[in-house]
Amino acid sequence: MSAADDAQLESYEGVATIEKVAALARRRGFVYPSSDIYGGLGSSFDYGHYGVLLKQNVKDEWQRSMIQEREDMVALDSAVILNPAVWAASGHVEGFSDPMVDCRTCKLRFRADQLEQSQCGQKPSVAPGEAKQCDLTEPREFHLMFETQIGAVRDDASRAYLRPETAQGIFVNFKNITSSLRVKPPFGVAQIGKSFRNEITPGNFLFRLREFEQMEMEFFVPADEAVQWFEYWVEARHRWYLDLGLRASHLRVRAHQASELSHYSSATSDLEYLFPIGWLELEGIANRGDYDLRAHAAASGTKLEWVGHEERYVPHVIEPAAGVDRASLAFLVDAYDEEVVADRPRTVLRLHPRIAPVKAAVLPLVGNDSALVEPARRLYEELRRTMPVEYDASAAIGKRYRRQDEIGTPWALTVDQQTPEDGTVTLRDRDSLEQERVPVDGVPALLRDRLDARWDPR
Ligand code: ATP
Repeated sequence: MSAADDAQLESYEGVATIEKVAALARRRGFVYPSSDIYGGLGSSFDYGHYGVLLKQNVKDEWQRSMIQEREDMVALDSAVILNPAVWAASGHVEGFSDPMVDCRTCKLRFRADQLEQSQCGQKPSVAPGEAKQCDLTEPREFHLMFETQIGAVRDDASRAYLRPETAQGIFVNFKNITSSLRVKPPFGVAQIGKSFRNEITPGNFLFRLREFEQMEMEFFVPADEAVQWFEYWVEARHRWYLDLGLRASHLRVRAHQASELSHYSSATSDLEYLFPIGWLELEGIANRGDYDLRAHAAASGTKLEWVGHEERYVPHVIEPAAGVDRASLAFLVDAYDEEVVADRPRTVLRLHPRIAPVKAAVLPLVGNDSALVEPARRLYEELRRTMPVEYDASAAIGKRYRRQDEIGTPWALTVDQQTPEDGTVTLRDRDSLEQERVPVDGVPALLRDRLDARWDPR
């Protein structure tokens, strides 16, 4: 990190730390360490109930903006294990590795290009190499693909890989897609799915995992439109995060220097988010040229080109590649807040209502009064037909509110003694804590309107 980045960290807005967010996520059933009762497995996590709902919202929003709201996009769900020839042609078998250094003293391994952000195994306050006892090796290449075997015989011919990215599944389906669907460049293919990388310095909770989900899109364009579409997608993807509530001051676009570019890319920009540990990549947008289609055409012997009435060419490709888990972590970190209300501390996730796992909680003020329970159950059952909602009749009302604040539920609907008299309930807003009386019959439409409305908490 540069000095400017350090200064930005000092002015970091918010009280979130990765540790606090991870602790809340575990306590409230968003994310658990994987294989927990066996001591966990490095950088693997299991998503609990609220984590599943939140992650699904992230994917739904991506799919909505990428596919549902566009006419130039189609979907794909390709296999995790592909013909190993795919990874040879894509360059992954040869080149998909990070330079690593080992410390002979503490026996830990670090990414050579990320030493500054890493911690010495014996003196965590300094970076590897900075403590007296550190003894680092020269950087060595380390292979990131997980290998597996297909069939009963274990030999070189049966070797296969778990995909380290979803993109190649799109390129190798180019011919199937163009010959079966009504598409014409410029058009895109969008896919969400799991990817696997044998990361050597995983850590920081959901930020770097060995098994993670990606949301990738390949946009095929005529060569002379590539620059313009690259800029379009950097802007569109930036806007997507802002529209879902990430604070603008914590999001930036960073164009790669020529020395950082992958061999296939003529331009790459990262969308970076200011996590409590610094500015880190959230998503990469790359102009990949015609590298991938040409490489697979050459290796497979199948022509991969666009054939129109009077034209025939190999399209160029713009790729926005995002991570579901990394985006979910950014939404959680950005939303995390602590404050004191009426002398009592409260932790609240100020999630965008569309990202929030539960949209509303229905709470009868007194949990065993049938005059309140009946209309509360009716309202709950009506609402759950169209959105995830919870019914909670246990504990004091303040405690129930806090529980919902901690999972980021934007609205609480309290059914009290006035409800049977005049057909209204109290609608409590998670962020402003304002309470208003609204007619119970109008609640479903009101919440749907609010979910569709623009939302700006700050
Ligand atoms: P990094 O430099 O952080 O390793 P990358 O440049 O290798 O990332 P890409 O190959 O561009 O990442 O992958 C696209 C996106 O997939 C990343 O921006 C990130 O959101 C996500 N991603 C990549 N690797 C991981 C991982 N190990 N854990 C979680 N998400 C990941």
